[in-house]
Amino acid sequence: MNNMEKTYEQGRAWIELNINNLKHNVDTLRSLLPAGCVLMPAIKANAYGHGAVPLAKELNKMGVQAFCVASVTEAMQLRENGVVGEILILGYTHPSDFPLLIRYNLTQAILDFEYAKQLDAFDGEIKAHIAVDTGMHRVGVPAENLDEIFAILNMKHLWVTGIYTHLCADDSFAEKDVAFTKKQAASISHIREQVLAAGYAVKVHILGSYGLLNYPELGGDYARIGIALNGVLSNRGHLAFCPVELRPVLSVKARVMTVRTIQPGDHVGYALAYTAESERKIAALSIGFADGLPRALSCGRGKVLIHGQEAPVVGRVCMDQTMVDVTDIENVKCGDVAVVIGKSGSLEITAYDLAEWSNTITNEILSRMGSRLNKLLI
Ligand SMILES: *Cc1c(COP(=O)(O)O)cnc(C)c1O
Repeated sequence: MNNMEKTYEQGRAWIELNINNLKHNVDTLRSLLPAGCVLMPAIKANAYGHGAVPLAKELNKMGVQAFCVASVTEAMQLRENGVVGEILILGYTHPSDFPLLIRYNLTQAILDFEYAKQLDAFDGEIKAHIAVDTGMHRVGVPAENLDEIFAILNMKHLWVTGIYTHLCADDSFAEKDVAFTKKQAASISHIREQVLAAGYAVKVHILGSYGLLNYPELGGDYARIGIALNGVLSNRGHLAFCPVELRPVLSVKARVMTVRTIQPGDHVGYALAYTAESERKIAALSIGFADGLPRALSCGRGKVLIHGQEAPVVGRVCMDQTMVDVTDIENVKCGDVAVVIGKSGSLEITAYDLAEWSNTITNEILSRMGSRLNKLLI
C-alpha cells in the first residue's frame, strides 16, 4: 500500500480491522467446533459493518472455505473480489436474479415450499440449502412437513446440498428458552435422520454464534458464525456465560476538523439543542450518523476518546459531523484522532458501550458502521 492510499483510508473517518484478533477468534471458535463441523462465517451486512471483502479474503487465507450472506448482491461482490469457497445466500433472491446464482456459483436458501417451486421452475440447475422452520417462524419449510422436504430433494432443477435450521432462543439459559432450543434441535435431528436414511447426501447445519458457544453438542456440518467472529457478543450481559475469550476486530476513528471556544449562552448544533453554561471548547468531528454513529448518542448520551480522555457529545449528531466537548482536554487541534470504538491511552469505548447508550445490540451498531467508512487492515 503506498502512502497516498494510506492517507485516503485514514482521511476523514475510518474502520481499523485487527487481523491478529480475527485470527485469534477464528482459532478460538474452531477449538469449540464439534467433530466434523467447519466454520461458515456469516458475513452479511458487509460482515456486520467490518467490510465483507477484506474480511472474507483474510478468512480465505485462514482456510475458511464457506460463507453465508443475506443477498445475491453481497455474494456477487465477494466473487468479483476473488473470494473462493461456498457462498450461501440466507435471504430472498428475486426470480429475475436466478441466473446470477448459477453465473457466480452461489447456493440459495430455500425459504419455503412455494419458493422451492419458483427455483425449480428456472431453466438451469440451482444449488440450494433447504431452510427448515423449527419454531422461529421466519423462513423455512415447517419441520413437520417432511413430505415437502422430500419433494424438494427430488426436484429436477434443484441441486440440494444442505438442510439447516436457525435457533432463536439459544442466547439464554432461562428454562423456557432451553426447552425451546432442545425442541428445535430434536426437530432438525429427526429430519436429518430421515433424510440421511433415505440416502440423500446433504450437509446439515444448526449452530450460529450462540449455538456454538452454548450448545456445541448439537453438532452439524457447518457453524454459521457471525457476531462472535467479530470478537463481541450481542450484549455485555452475555459475556458472563461466554466460555472463551474473544477479541474485538473493529475500531472506529474520526478526525477532529475544527476546535472553537464558545461563551455562556451560546448554542451548538441543530435545534440549538445544547446551550453552554460556561465557556466551553468544542471540537467538530468528521463522522456522523450516515457513517453509523447512532443519532441516539446526541446531547451527552455518547462520548468519544481524544488523547486518552473522554469527550461527551454536545448537541445533536449530524449526518456527517458530530460536536464534542473538549474543554478539559489539552491541545486538541485539527487532524487529531477521536476514537469512537476502541482504545485511547488507558481508556476504551466498546461496541457494548455504544449499544447500551443507544438502547440496542452490538449487531445493529456494528452492521450500520459498514457503508461509508474506509476499512484499514492493521
Ligand atoms: C445472521 C445469521 C447467522 C449468524 O448469527 P450470529 O448470531 O451473528 O452468529 C446464522 N444463521 C442465520 C440463518 C442468520 O440469519
